[in-house]
Amino acid sequence: MLSAAAKSISVLPARAASITTVGGQAPAALACDKASLAGSVTQRACAFCGSRVVLYPIADALHLVHGPIGCAAYTWDIRGAQSSGPQLFRNSFSTDLREMDVIYGGEKKLGAALRELIARHSPKAAFVYSTCIVGVIGDDVSAVCKEVAAEVGIPVIPVASEGFKGTKKDGYRAACDAVYHLIGSGNTADIPKFSINLLGDFNIAGETWVIRNYFERMGITVVATLTGDGRVDAIRRCHGATLNLVQCSGSMTSLAKRMEKEHGIPFLRVSFFGIEDMSAAIYAVANFFNDDVLREKAQQVIREELGALVPELRMYRTSLEGKKAAIYVGGAFKAFSLVRALRSIGMSTAIVGTQTGDSGDYETLENICEPGTIILDDSNPLELAKFCLEKDVDLFIGGVKERPIAYKLGIGFCDHNHERKEALAGYVGMLNFAKEVYATVMSPVWQFTPRRDADELFSIGAST
Ligand code: SF4
Repeated sequence: MLSAAAKSISVLPARAASITTVGGQAPAALACDKASLAGSVTQRACAFCGSRVVLYPIADALHLVHGPIGCAAYTWDIRGAQSSGPQLFRNSFSTDLREMDVIYGGEKKLGAALRELIARHSPKAAFVYSTCIVGVIGDDVSAVCKEVAAEVGIPVIPVASEGFKGTKKDGYRAACDAVYHLIGSGNTADIPKFSINLLGDFNIAGETWVIRNYFERMGITVVATLTGDGRVDAIRRCHGATLNLVQCSGSMTSLAKRMEKEHGIPFLRVSFFGIEDMSAAIYAVANFFNDDVLREKAQQVIREELGALVPELRMYRTSLEGKKAAIYVGGAFKAFSLVRALRSIGMSTAIVGTQTGDSGDYETLENICEPGTIILDDSNPLELAKFCLEKDVDLFIGGVKERPIAYKLGIGFCDHNHERKEALAGYVGMLNFAKEVYATVMSPVWQFTPRRDADELFSIGAST
């Protein structure tokens, strides 16, 4: 029965086409890839944020936000990307545009900031991010970057990421366009045949190192990681690799397609989350190179990793069997993997949504989810709350914006976004994920929260 609290929240009519139920009345293709509905308060971030997510982990580059200080407030330093060397990327530099700059233009300020910061930090390259206000006042960011680059002798790259220009996905595209300025300018002479680039892994809590290790144990050279633990010189020569692996499909598929077209490098879309998807990624690479020794090494890596993991997962599965989860994440590939990873620890998915999925992604979700699962594109807090109550979920997996929704409803929360500090990719990540889900879902604290008493509370509230 639908709880009174869930019933009290209605879905805005203009949002109805972006929500469907697996196995329900045959829905038309889910509405997606659209600007967010004004007034519904989206869970998506702006285009500038999308570009920043992709580019900031390039550790030896200077990242300068051209705009008001508020746009730069949410820095990479409070997100989880790790660097094995330089820490320059952790600084959030801003031109701090103010009223007089809005009136007279911010180009001089930008040029001065770039010259001072490059002289002080000697970066390998500099990225300049345009924010909303720069789009409004019309600063010629490209001209300033070109002028400074000629003076200082490093690439100074404009990122056309004005926040209002589209969805977070448009920010991803702006970032891919920007990073493409570097690709093709390095020496590729010593790159072997069995070589790959990792695209769309951001080295949250060191995940890129975990994945890199699996491929290196197979005898594969990882030329560049874009952009987790990224280095400008490695990116310059990444066009010499034989294969691109795209982990975060939403952010990096456009770059992979461009490299395929202009450098002839094919790409595979993979996911490193969960046992099934991690193993599938390793096998896909071995099959791509079509080499028996490589295949044998791939099997060996998987055997070794599963031998350690599977016995440990059993205990968690026993306790978590039958529990239900809600998933709301940025990219669709992560959502697919999470559905499968939850299944491997005995849990089902009752709600799943993404910020940037396309119609093909939602078709895949409909195919892999059980009947009754609610699928949403570009959701908002009220919808998420409504469906969490309706489905009576035990766990919410999301990012920083979903955490308060879960806690207010008295639901366990697991962070699967850039803010987390624990690696969730690879086999070791699967074990970390199981431990975190277990600790969250089984915590005795949920006995003292109002979630399952929502109706009672609601009726008390209504009668007073
Ligand atoms: S929407 Fe515009 S003003 Fe707001 S953070 Fe994004 S770029 Fe800055």
